[in-house]
Amino acid sequence: MVHVGIGYDVHALVEGRRLFLGGVEIPHTHGLEGHSDADALLHAITDAVLGAVGEVDIGHLFPNTEPAWRDAPSRIFLEEAARRVTARGGRIVNIDASLVAESPKIFPHIAQMKERIASALGIHPGKVGVKATTNERMGFVGRREGIAAMAVAAVDIPEAMPGATH
Ligand code: MG
Repeated sequence: MVHVGIGYDVHALVEGRRLFLGGVEIPHTHGLEGHSDADALLHAITDAVLGAVGEVDIGHLFPNTEPAWRDAPSRIFLEEAARRVTARGGRIVNIDASLVAESPKIFPHIAQMKERIASALGIHPGKVGVKATTNERMGFVGRREGIAAMAVAAVDIPEAMPGATH
């Protein structure tokens, strides 16, 4: 049975931080503010995968009060989400995601992002979609105050045995 999950994340753009999106460091004047490396794209995908298997969200699994996650690479969050899929005998069918950013240009980095995401999830890069759009200069994204990301995940989970309650 295929289950779907949805994820959304946003982080503020600030000076003095490196910018990580989709596991790729992108040269830019600003980076995303957050406790970990603040990779909004990986966070959205992590939540999508967790949601597909009915787990709690990334903020509860990896609280921003935990010193261990300070400046942590968000790849470890994605790897943990994938591990929870495997623990249920599940298999990630595909991931799709959109970044909403006024700048920098995302497209040149998308192929590498797909590789990094696929590698963290243990799936083929062809199963990972990443797109980018601007917010047409409107709102907080349009004012370059932050970057948003949304994602969906499809996860194939074995049917419960006949007679099981769930
Ligand atoms: Mg986040």
